[in-house]
Amino acid sequence: MERFVYADNAATTKISKPVLDAMLPYLTEEYGNPSSLYRFGNQAKRAIEKARKEVADVLNADPFEIIFTAGGTEADNWVKEIMRSLKNKGKNHFITSAVEHHALIHSAQRLEKEGFEVTYIPVDREGQINPEDIKKAIRPETGLVSIMFANNEIGTIHPIKEIGAICREAGVLFHTDAVQAAGHIKIDVKEMNIDMLSLSAHKFHGPKGTGAFYCRRGIALNSLIDGGAQERGKRAGTENVAGIVGLGTAIRIANEEMEETTKRVSAMRDRLIDGILEKIPQCRLNGPRENRLPGNCNISFLGIEGESLLLRLDLAGIAASSGSACASSSLDPSHVLLAIGLPHEVAHGSVRLSLSDFNTEEDVDYILEKLPEIVSTLRSMSPLWEAMQKGEVSYDL
Ligand SMILES: *Cc1c(COP(=O)(O)O)cnc(C)c1O
Repeated sequence: MERFVYADNAATTKISKPVLDAMLPYLTEEYGNPSSLYRFGNQAKRAIEKARKEVADVLNADPFEIIFTAGGTEADNWVKEIMRSLKNKGKNHFITSAVEHHALIHSAQRLEKEGFEVTYIPVDREGQINPEDIKKAIRPETGLVSIMFANNEIGTIHPIKEIGAICREAGVLFHTDAVQAAGHIKIDVKEMNIDMLSLSAHKFHGPKGTGAFYCRRGIALNSLIDGGAQERGKRAGTENVAGIVGLGTAIRIANEEMEETTKRVSAMRDRLIDGILEKIPQCRLNGPRENRLPGNCNISFLGIEGESLLLRLDLAGIAASSGSACASSSLDPSHVLLAIGLPHEVAHGSVRLSLSDFNTEEDVDYILEKLPEIVSTLRSMSPLWEAMQKGEVSYDL
């Protein structure tokens, strides 16, 4: 059989067997409405509250502070809602970073259109944020700071605890998009001074379309969706019971297995990175070696187009991506790669290979076998590569 290697786990992951098993009853026999008064609906209600506790426990939060959403994007959109509610308190300044997911970048742009002022904190060559920059950017009218926990494209893990402490001291709310971090990195909302956080089940072997928004007790929260009294009236609509049960189970398992998974996956990631840099000349690792998501490998291959590389990888049975799934249908280079200072042509030649605990050493071997020959074929057809060989064009790696 032809080999298939799934190396796009930052885009989404495969649902695990125990998660599916936990969900199935709620898609079949346990179909009661959690808001109903009879016992049949009550079982669904209890399943939701069990999942809420599972999510809260992993974050060191209180179940009351967890609101279920339809994924990471929806949770991120709450940030916009909170900024809007702060406006009549004279807070019209929002701080975020230049490397956020589009769920936040586009929310920030919407706020700008509505008259808010937004500061986009820059990052260094490795995608790292300097907390001092945030300290300097905070002004009396700043209402909220939102900085992602870890970057979905280049894997950089940000100093969340420090940033949280700066915000806490300045009396400014702090949100983090932890969609790439939850289930992969230890998160303690109390110790890390996090006021609000977004996470999504399908990034850690849970179902798509289910996420959670953590909001610290005491923070005034407007409702995101009006309707019934579900989710404390903040997010109306009959609950996605099976999805919520899947989220709870997935985050509990991810947390239980985290230490072992991190060790195994980051070892595979390092072997993949080292192998690529060793076998293929003229390429650059994007993102840091340390403080990097366990499964993330993002490489720029000079002289070629990332899109053609992805197509050839696909033909060889390897699923990878050019960075963010949401941006891949557009031809603009990734805003993250531009933010770390890559020239357009180099950003265009970048590919993200993201591993999970479902990958094997054989997967890494297979990528390391196929990738060098594909890159070399593409380079042999590339006018840019030819110009580079003649010394007419050069890039700083
Ligand atoms: C995937 C992702 C999102 C979006 O989550 P969905 O559940 O797919 O809506 C948001 N932020 C980051 C960092 C992500 O990786």
